[in-house]
Amino acid sequence: MSLMSATPHQPTVTEREARQVAEAAREQDWRKPSFAKELFLGRFRLDLIHPHPMPADEDAQRGEEFLAKLRDFCETEIDSARIEREARIPDETVNGLKELGALGMKIDTKYGGLGLTQVYYNKALALVGSANPALGALLSAHQSIGVPQPLKLFGTQEQKDTYLPRCARTDISAFLLTEPDVGSDPARLATTAVPDGDDYVLDGVKLWTTNGVVADLLVVMARVPKSEGHKGGITAFVVEAGSEGITVENRNAFMGLRGLENGVTRFHQVRVPAANRIGPEGAGLKIALTTLNTGRLSLPAMCVGAGKWCLKIAREWSAAREQWGKPVAFHEAVGAKISFIAATTFALEAVVDLSSQMADENRNDIRIEAALAKLYGSEMGCLMADELVQIRGGRGFETAESLAARGERAVPAEQILRDLRINRIFEGSTEIMHLLIAREAVDAHLSVAGDLIDPDKSLSDKAKAGANAGVFYAKWLPKLVAGQGQIPGAYGEFRREVDLSPHLRYVERGARKLARSTFYAMSRWQGRMETKQGFLGRIVDIGAELFAMSAACVRAELLRKEGDHGREAYQLADAFCRQSRIRVEELFGRLWSNTDDLDRKVVEGVLSGTYAWLEEGVIDPSGEGPWIADATPGAAKRENVHRPIR
Ligand SMILES: Cc1cc2nc3c(=O)[nH]c(=O)nc-3n(C[C@H](O)[C@H](O)[C@H](O)COP(=O)(O)OP(=O)(O)OC[C@H]3O[C@@H](n4cnc5c(N)ncnc54)[C@H](O)[C@@H]3O)c2cc1C
Repeated sequence: MSLMSATPHQPTVTEREARQVAEAAREQDWRKPSFAKELFLGRFRLDLIHPHPMPADEDAQRGEEFLAKLRDFCETEIDSARIEREARIPDETVNGLKELGALGMKIDTKYGGLGLTQVYYNKALALVGSANPALGALLSAHQSIGVPQPLKLFGTQEQKDTYLPRCARTDISAFLLTEPDVGSDPARLATTAVPDGDDYVLDGVKLWTTNGVVADLLVVMARVPKSEGHKGGITAFVVEAGSEGITVENRNAFMGLRGLENGVTRFHQVRVPAANRIGPEGAGLKIALTTLNTGRLSLPAMCVGAGKWCLKIAREWSAAREQWGKPVAFHEAVGAKISFIAATTFALEAVVDLSSQMADENRNDIRIEAALAKLYGSEMGCLMADELVQIRGGRGFETAESLAARGERAVPAEQILRDLRINRIFEGSTEIMHLLIAREAVDAHLSVAGDLIDPDKSLSDKAKAGANAGVFYAKWLPKLVAGQGQIPGAYGEFRREVDLSPHLRYVERGARKLARSTFYAMSRWQGRMETKQGFLGRIVDIGAELFAMSAACVRAELLRKEGDHGREAYQLADAFCRQSRIRVEELFGRLWSNTDDLDRKVVEGVLSGTYAWLEEGVIDPSGEGPWIADATPGAAKRENVHRPIR
């Protein structure tokens, strides 16, 4: 890969190079079965998720005990209104969480952590996040992407012994990948780590470092230049946040998550011992992506918490508020929103619990499920919050503080909408998640026919690929014609007072249709397929809906068997599947009937200024100033706002 330098510190990267970097970071092996991967291939492997896997008794007991303590803490010690008002989490709240062991929920007990499973870790995040989303973000950034998880997966024994006990009890960590000029595209990464004796010397600027302002430890992604004895490439390091040469130059403020301690962190000739490198040189992005395989479940877990809260408020408020002669809940337009929130919360919890339990069991590969959960959870979370604001009417738009000031219950509906909005952007934006999941969805096709559509491959490579593809498709395509979904009695065990079996048959048929559509698209667009983002996004969204339907049905059956609200769970699963099927039908329709080509032309017009006249008649309050701040390495010129919490 040739990375030419536009300026001494900033590599310029072509689209192709950016893709190559992303591709190299991808985990390519599939050693374990994957429900979602099979789904995209047209195979509905219900057996991989049903009966719903269950946690071991001792894990559940430990988890429940901790949740009880955490709930008590959240109810008595967290003042969410104060965090919102002061835009800061009080130190005593953070210290209280430390004492509870909440920094080490996922860290093994042998390092002083609580050793919770993914299932209970996620439930804990949902609980804390419902008390205040910025607190959920603090804990999740520390444990899901901060120091503990990459060390657990890739650290040396010495690194684990040194850092995990600190991370479990006292030290807050942050994950530093993004830079002013490096967002979704890490190939542009400009922070450098230059080998020097037994150390690396780090220089560069990192942006939007969640926890960065208060962190004790950092995971930093930096580029090691290639040299003799050094393979080079993007590499991960554990760095002491108080090291000489590190300056937190700004505490950033956002639309939501006002309590977030998010900074701009400058590295100027920061010496980091080689022993602090995580994994080999060049493995940084792979480490980041692998960490996110399960790390991605935290965010949808907090969306589940948000959904539950939205439902509670929607229920209480819409029963109490009377307009036009009856409670607003009974006006059909409002009722539909409540039904959407209830059904979606049920399905989202099903998705997160199922994926988390599968992550704990380690029997299945859940990287696509977790990615789908992140994508779907963040999108649905925002929709639910938006509907809650609407249900609350004018009060939905009013701040909790203002409501309280004039004597009403302080419901932070507008806050939840603001707080949830970032979920569609960070830890992989929706657009990037679409591409990432689509890449996995078409992986089977690329692995058998990839060379056929690669313009750089020779004719003989293409001929070989053609033969391989012929063998694969001769077996695979006929299987997409018929399946269980067409057999009227199939999935009969889901036929109870409410019948979920038609929905599972729909999922089975839908999966085959999805795979057929992907195949047609591959043959139609071949190498250009990767540029068809509208199409790929819809394919992925259909997959997400089918996965959510499957999870909802399987969860309903689990609850029925356990005697916990089985009947109601069936009702909610049924409602969700019916709503979801309408979305799926629309998405299938839009695969081939859409405005994608037209939109591309409109964009060309917009960017070339053809429609600039349309912008007349308004004021742009953003004024002048660069779009992207200068990130030239060098000594800090601003005050250090780093303030570790002790
Ligand atoms: C509150 C907050 C906390 C954060 N915390 C952290 C953190 O702890 N650590 C960290 O490293 N980073 C963090 N980030 C950064 C976050 O992960 C990035 O914002 C995110 O990766 C997107 O990058 P970007 O903002 O530069 O968007 P850009 O990459 O500039 O993208 C702009 C738009 O283009 C779209 N886009 C970009 N590339 C493509 C493509 N190939 N195809 C289709 N669409 C595309 C994006 O989806 C987006 O809509 C945080 C950001 C915020 C705001």
